[in-house]
Amino acid sequence: MSHFSIQCKKCGKNLENTFCAFCEHCKDALLVTNYHGTRFAEQGTEGIWRFNWLPVHGSRFSQPGPLVYRSQRLAEHLGLENLYIAFNGYWPEKGVFLETCTFKEFEAAVVLQNARENGIEGLIVASAGNTARAFSHLSSVTGFPVVIVVPRMCLTEMWYLEQSSTVPTLAVGDGDYADSIDVAKKIALITGFPFEGGVKNIAKRDGLGIVMLEAVSKMGKLPDHYVQAVGSGTGAIGAWEMAERFIKDGRYGSRLPILHLGQNLPFAPMLHAWDKGSRALFPEDLDPALISQITTRVLSTRYPAYSVQGGVYDALSATGGKMYGIENDAVYAGMELFLKTEGIDLVPASGVAVAVLGDAVLKGAIKKNETVLLNITGGGEARLRQVKKTYAVEPKFISKHATEKDIEELLCHTLKKSS
Ligand SMILES: [Zn+2]
Repeated sequence: MSHFSIQCKKCGKNLENTFCAFCEHCKDALLVTNYHGTRFAEQGTEGIWRFNWLPVHGSRFSQPGPLVYRSQRLAEHLGLENLYIAFNGYWPEKGVFLETCTFKEFEAAVVLQNARENGIEGLIVASAGNTARAFSHLSSVTGFPVVIVVPRMCLTEMWYLEQSSTVPTLAVGDGDYADSIDVAKKIALITGFPFEGGVKNIAKRDGLGIVMLEAVSKMGKLPDHYVQAVGSGTGAIGAWEMAERFIKDGRYGSRLPILHLGQNLPFAPMLHAWDKGSRALFPEDLDPALISQITTRVLSTRYPAYSVQGGVYDALSATGGKMYGIENDAVYAGMELFLKTEGIDLVPASGVAVAVLGDAVLKGAIKKNETVLLNITGGGEARLRQVKKTYAVEPKFISKHATEKDIEELLCHTLKKSS
């Protein structure tokens, strides 16, 4: 018998363990994994597969987790006594070797394993950058086929651990991340490989929630505060869902960590909606022109999981959370501060998170003796390049208006090239 079932967050209906299931009654609600074992447990000592709250039954590959450690210097700088950092990236001096340099690696590992166990033979993945690298790497490691769709505007910041020809990658020349998702869904219909499902895929959220699993395993309790930069918000929702499981367990605290989530100004649709107490996003905040002005393209989705039942709005409401807007200058300052105090380079999204933490302390939203978990979602890229060759992404280009015939021709060519 499976150790979990899937439940609709709105109507409570239990669903069969199918890949990326949808509740037929509630189109605007997320499904959550209901683990039958309500006590947190770990088997063995290494890697992510030791946790009992993952929607997989086995695995054929090893997958390291994040590094969670207690900060000295950044904590001192900010006047905090109990700052814990979850570092997701490459930092061999600290014993963490995530070569994709992103927490999306856990998402990809859990999604691919879950898909395989559900009899899925391949996946279509849309990404604004990091997810593409994570899925391309895990596809290489596990031999599970994926087709990756990215917006052209993100290509300059993208890199792979493998040569681009190993994993079919399409770039949408005339659109952004949201258009890439649309194209990916179109390709899914044509190829018969499912779209990975975005935030609706429970394996994706539980995979990102591994950061919370690792943190509580290390800290022995839930943090009072959780700090992260958000694009789609999927990682923050995953962290909140894991925290709720720990509350149910009862041994790790009785209060949900307060979420402190940051977006890069001027593209901050969730910040503006939250500040006005609105569950709906405002169309003027989703203007693609704003995206070209931010330094963190990976946070540029126009389809964030905000309004949906069980999404970011509900996560902020449940935890008494706050949204923060971070200017480009502050993003760079956050990256520099971390390098200076902790000694490792960060990606811009993590610079957003460091800036959010600084802001929250300054505003008194986080007190000096409270326990804080800072999720550094990506870092160590510069460190990795000292020891390893990485590759530019060389995609085939596709239009957001591509017809079925266009897609068939392109993919036939791409898939041939990759086989
Ligand atoms: Zn439902």
